[in-house]
Amino acid sequence: MSRDWTRATAAEIADGLAAGETTSVEVTQAHLDRIAAVDGAVHAFLHVDADGALAQAAESDARRAAGSLLSPLDGVPIAVKDVLATEGLPTTCGSRILEGWVPPYDATVVRRLRAAGLPILGKTNMDEFAMGSSTEHSAYGPTHNPWDLDRIPGGSGGGSAAAVAAFEAPLAIGTDTGGSIRQPGAVTGTVGVKPTYGGVSRYGLVALANSLDQAGPVTRTVLDAALLHEVIGGHDPLDSTSIDQPLPALVEAARQGAAGGLSGLRVGVITELAAGGGQSGWQAGVMSRFQESVDLLVAAGAEVVEVSCPSFVHAMATYYLILPAEASSNLAKFDAMRYGLRVWPEGKPEASAEDVMRATRDAGFGDEVKRRIILGTYALSSGYYDAYYGQAQKVRTLIARDFEAAFARADVLVSPTAPTTAFKLGEKLDDPIAMYLNDLATIPANLAGVPGISVPSGLADEDGLPAGFQVLAPALADDRLYRVGAALEAALEQKWGGPLLAQAPTLGLDMLAGARNSTTEVN
Ligand code: GLN
Repeated sequence: MSRDWTRATAAEIADGLAAGETTSVEVTQAHLDRIAAVDGAVHAFLHVDADGALAQAAESDARRAAGSLLSPLDGVPIAVKDVLATEGLPTTCGSRILEGWVPPYDATVVRRLRAAGLPILGKTNMDEFAMGSSTEHSAYGPTHNPWDLDRIPGGSGGGSAAAVAAFEAPLAIGTDTGGSIRQPGAVTGTVGVKPTYGGVSRYGLVALANSLDQAGPVTRTVLDAALLHEVIGGHDPLDSTSIDQPLPALVEAARQGAAGGLSGLRVGVITELAAGGGQSGWQAGVMSRFQESVDLLVAAGAEVVEVSCPSFVHAMATYYLILPAEASSNLAKFDAMRYGLRVWPEGKPEASAEDVMRATRDAGFGDEVKRRIILGTYALSSGYYDAYYGQAQKVRTLIARDFEAAFARADVLVSPTAPTTAFKLGEKLDDPIAMYLNDLATIPANLAGVPGISVPSGLADEDGLPAGFQVLAPALADDRLYRVGAALEAALEQKWGGPLLAQAPTLGLDMLAGARNSTTEVN
């Protein structure tokens, strides 16, 4: 029997293609079959482009036959978060207001995926306009965590993480404004990377908060993330905040990390984000897996130092002023006049443009989006601007200074990625603050623009669900994430006797198909 290519990593698929053991069409079809079999239960995808993906796969196979490959990942299929513009494919951002919109152009990230020969399987589910930590704020219904279908897959990029965890795609693209790549990675046992701000083009990424947003890799291994990061990263003249410098050697760093030790590397444990940092809400099992991972880094030769970042305790409050301020301004463009939904106010044939805008925005935006528009408009209003937005910008500078001081003493900083494992669907939906607290440990990196990775650290004792280990590096030193991440991954896999996802209880095709009955209640 031929190999099940949905279980292979992207690097393994690339090797299989190179060795002539399979074709891109076969691999792409295997993933489309898997999507057809399990996505009814998982709901990772908002749109599947089977015909497009297979046509792109056939082109890749033809290139291979002609000896003219475009990249090391040529022929390896990928899923893309529905916040990135894709020419000819719907792009909804998980919102009703963009239902049916088909962009006339590709985001730079998408253009680079196509230019590197990766067939695009489809678009993944997300919290509306990337606001959320559970994917429950999608207007199209939640995504389910493949480890336990009654639980959330994280957010806002729960669709991308679940697709990769459920073996529906070997690779995916996410976006991270406050943790939306890393936190879903943590709760689904996958790898997620938020690159240095400016390291990956934001052109064609529908903006949530321009000064915080960054697209990045969602994968099952650290090496796969590095391979994908090298495809999507690098300077783009179409994004004025794009950094005009070559990327560090990321794949090489991942290979080095997996092969060699970490001797000489200084790892800083952030006091405010470790051992609970004196705060309640950190799950014991998540903290034990974190401590074990730190011990493994030490065993690999790293030296551990404790670093304090006192301003991090204000990161959450700072973020929830800056993000809504930017978001309220960005979302003003959904005005029912140019594209997307248009709702005519009932019983008002003579409605003004303003009446139509009001009716459309009322019907087209969900509660969380409205909450943040109100918050942001308030924080930016004259009379309150200095007290809220201006003050938040000052604290943002203090947080960046904390990072600078910490990186003077340590090469990388570490913490658990998220305070808990995946919670139950519905559990935090009515309590926005409880939802926001999921990003306690991920938000500081976005505020300062530094890169971060989440690597699976194991299963929490209490519930048998995955926990994540976060590594942060100075801006432009993304290679350190891959070196440390790959070293930890190698040490953990040795301990577990294989990848974490092999331990997932519900990932068998039959079990997922069987579980479908029990999830109808949740839906
Ligand atoms: N959960 C955070 C929020 O709701 C982060 C979102 C993101 O990174 N896109 O804002």
